Amino acid sequence: MTPKRITHRINGKPWDGIPERAGEVFDPATGEVAGLVDFAGVAEVDAAVAAASTAFQSWRHASLTQRATVMFAFRELMNSRKRELTEIVTAEHGKVLSDAAGEVQRALEAVEFACGIPQLLKGGFSENASNRVDVYSIQQPLGVVGVISPFNFPAMVPLWFVPNAIACGNTVVLKPSEKDPSAANFLAELFAEAGLPDGVLNVVHGDKVAVDRILEHPDVRAVSFVGSTPIARYVYETGTRHGKRVQALGGAKNHMVVLPDADLDLAADAAVSAGFGSAGERCMAISVVVAVEPVGTELVARIQDRIANLRVGDGRRPACEMGPLVTGAHRDRVVSYVDAGVAAGASLVVDGRDHPIDASGSGFWLGPTLFDHVTPEMSVYTDEIFGPILAVVRVDGYDAAVELVNANPYGNGTAIFTNDGGAARRYQNEIEVGMVGVNVPIPVPVSYYSFGGWKDSLFGDSHAYGPHGVHFFTRTKVVTSRWLDPSHGGVNLGFPTLS
Ligand code: NAD
Repeated sequence: MTPKRITHRINGKPWDGIPERAGEVFDPATGEVAGLVDFAGVAEVDAAVAAASTAFQSWRHASLTQRATVMFAFRELMNSRKRELTEIVTAEHGKVLSDAAGEVQRALEAVEFACGIPQLLKGGFSENASNRVDVYSIQQPLGVVGVISPFNFPAMVPLWFVPNAIACGNTVVLKPSEKDPSAANFLAELFAEAGLPDGVLNVVHGDKVAVDRILEHPDVRAVSFVGSTPIARYVYETGTRHGKRVQALGGAKNHMVVLPDADLDLAADAAVSAGFGSAGERCMAISVVVAVEPVGTELVARIQDRIANLRVGDGRRPACEMGPLVTGAHRDRVVSYVDAGVAAGASLVVDGRDHPIDASGSGFWLGPTLFDHVTPEMSVYTDEIFGPILAVVRVDGYDAAVELVNANPYGNGTAIFTNDGGAARRYQNEIEVGMVGVNVPIPVPVSYYSFGGWKDSLFGDSHAYGPHGVHFFTRTKVVTSRWLDPSHGGVNLGFPTLS
């Protein structure tokens, strides 16, 4: 099979230049190179920013009705073509089709939120704040904004930001992950079909070179980033140093606390679903189960039983529940933690290297892996592995569980499983994590709340999408207005006060 070429979309059309560099895009289920993606240099990023700057001059004046109309049209198009988008996600990411469909559905929710932009951009108005003085606030777009996204949600994460950014009147340069770049191009084509003017949404592909240019470009006003913590920190520091507004969402190590009174079947189902869905390549995956004794042995047994029945294989095969890892290099890194866990003294209850695989070719496989008796200094606990490895840490009581979670540098998501409402309520209050589930293992907020972790899982003060998204992509102006009448009081150098 000849690999397809994937290129940038600048000013409403595919880029027609010759790339200096390109990257391989794999079909993770077969291990074959399915595409070659052009890597942008400084010139291509500059061209995209220039197109976005020009488009901003008119798009910022587009009426709220016009912006909402585009968003509704995009929503309809995406909904009617979601099967295609789902297949694109599975082909390059590897996640099974049903999981990709879930990603697309959650992405649609973010689009639907942005359809309400006329309501979301309403300002405040105070009539007669002083004598015949009115005060009101308006929210205006920032200009060109950069969106830099990770491989693990190639459709959803771009759509956490792009609809709100555009609906608020900004123009966008999107730099998706170079590992699965096609979904971003598909979305940009749908936006064009929905009536979005050329240049409002541009897609550049590439790696650090493209990211650095976005971070340094003087015409880029803000950057939304999602990825691993070291890069998120770098993006936040570099972008803010260049005077930009930055929100940078980072990695995670999400704990699921199981109290002794929990329904253990519910907890085991949740641990397996949230630990191994998408092969653990989710920033909200559960990677640590904190078993509050005496439930450890029984819980581990029930998780082990469920793992045995999981169908791992090519995501395009309908029966498969878990797909491959995204690349061979990532698979090798994840597998290295199996050896590291054993060497550190954890009990390897299920070795994913032995799991049967339903696929042809040599994809990037590792089956679900379960460690028990993991302790906090082991690398299987400290590191974000981002693969199908679930670690069980046993603790002696509720307080020890909270202490463990709060001592972890990450604070993206967490869940507690219990039938004790008081304990759950205490947990939600005491835990230093941005998103909390009570008997819900993956508490990704609906689109009219906002998504974001605490501590090393987010740099900046704005979470993604929802109300924070609108706030991030606008700046507020407050107007104090008086229409003079002939009786105004003349010159007065005193500081204005209310009267
Ligand atoms: P990554 O950090 O490797 O890449 C993210 C983006 O940064 C990509 O577009 C990539 O091209 C770019 N990039 C990579 N290296 C760079 C460098 N040295 N300089 C500048 N840019 C660079 O992340 P990934 O492997 O694509 O995605 C997985 C990570 O994303 C995990 O850590 C996961 O937890 C995290 N994630 C977080 C959230 C969240 O909401 N907090 C959501 C999804 C994924």
